[in-house]
Amino acid sequence: MASYSTESQASTESGDEEVVTGKEEVHEFKTETKRLLNIVANSLYSEKEIFVRELISNAADALEKLRHTQSMESMDSDKPLEIRISLDQDKRQFVIQDHGIGMTLDELNENLGTIARSGSKSFLEKLEKDGGSGSRENIIGQFGVGFYSTFMVGDRIKVYTRSAKPGSKGYCWTTDGQGSYTVAEADNVAVGTKIVIELREDCKSYASQLEIDSIIKKYSNFVGFPIYLNGEEV
Ligand code: ADP
Ligand code: MG
Repeated sequence: MASYSTESQASTESGDEEVVTGKEEVHEFKTETKRLLNIVANSLYSEKEIFVRELISNAADALEKLRHTQSMESMDSDKPLEIRISLDQDKRQFVIQDHGIGMTLDELNENLGTIARSGSKSFLEKLEKDGGSGSRENIIGQFGVGFYSTFMVGDRIKVYTRSAKPGSKGYCWTTDGQGSYTVAEADNVAVGTKIVIELREDCKSYASQLEIDSIIKKYSNFVGFPIYLNGEEV
């Protein structure tokens, strides 16, 4: 079923906003991913703020990969190597954008749809060993759940991404974490990745500039790229 959306999307920059133009394909998460999402979303883990650190670390990795690849082959990017976070308290949104390496359609399905990541794998193995008892919260803290930590604070996550490989198309990946996600082609997607978190009511403090400023300073002091929060360098 083709779906054309004119819904306005949060934009971290002036200029055109992303628009979903392609057919929305629905994909089931892998069983183990569903399990992980379910645990993370219902977790009582108190340090939910670590999602900020995880997203910044992914953005920094993506920028580093772009820099590395650019030194070997030509990449479709001329944007500054920086990380931009913008918050909207009225819309209860947390948005992070980088103009890093981005993801192709295959990479998007592979990286965000399955648990390829060693930390998440160890997390599930440990959980299995402990028979689901013990403290899930401690295990989250111990292994970290990377990108999936966004589900501790958001009830909908949107990822706009375009690979820096020349000629790549832009995509919108979105999910409410309930078993499936959709992917569709989108226009006006900048090279790199933009992640929009629709914050849960009980997590709306993560749209506060003061709060995020202090979280960034607490965890992300040694990131090798400048971080801007609502337009100001942190
Ligand atoms: P890890 O960072 O340990 O690999 P994550 O769960 O944090 O695990 O992220 C999963 C994968 O998703 C990353 O390895 C990367 O391939 C992809 N990814 C996440 N965020 C970004 C981003 N901002 N830009 C490009 N790829 C990303
Ligand atoms: Mg990561």
